[in-house]
Amino acid sequence: MAGNLTFTMIKPDAVEKNAIGPILKIINEAGFRINAMKYTRLSAGQAGRFYEIHKGRPFYEALVEFMSSGPIVAVLLEKDNAVEDFRKLIGATNPENADTGTIRNLFATNVQMNAVHGSDSDENALIESSFFFSEMERF
Ligand code: UDP
Ligand code: MG
Repeated sequence: MAGNLTFTMIKPDAVEKNAIGPILKIINEAGFRINAMKYTRLSAGQAGRFYEIHKGRPFYEALVEFMSSGPIVAVLLEKDNAVEDFRKLIGATNPENADTGTIRNLFATNVQMNAVHGSDSDENALIESSFFFSEMERF
């Protein structure tokens, strides 16, 4: 059964573009409820741990540097079928392939600076959200 939680980050490129508000509006209008939210900045070590699964890939080091280059907004989102529906809302990893109207189509700069993160499974949504949020920060 599909879970009802997914985790997202508004990445440093989108924060820099002053797009926190517009992106959260799209997410809310798509029917997602905010369960937890934090405006913070990752150290290189923290970004490296968050993206540990990609360690060894050619883009890993640059990704870690980018993700620790400025503040991000971490958000735990709630909706039926959350993981799949959110991946549809954000579009493909490379904005050149992202459908019109998706968040990455609207706000991404390139395949690395692609505006938002989205969990790829229910299991990872829980792992990723517990990286940022304690029980008492969730509502
Ligand atoms: N990424 C990159 N180059 C690539 C593929 C990915 O810089 O060729 C970055 C990009 O920021 C992406 C993140 O690494 O969002 C994680 O990659 P993944 O394949 O998990 O894409 P996502 O799940 O974010 O769509
Ligand atoms: Mg991924």
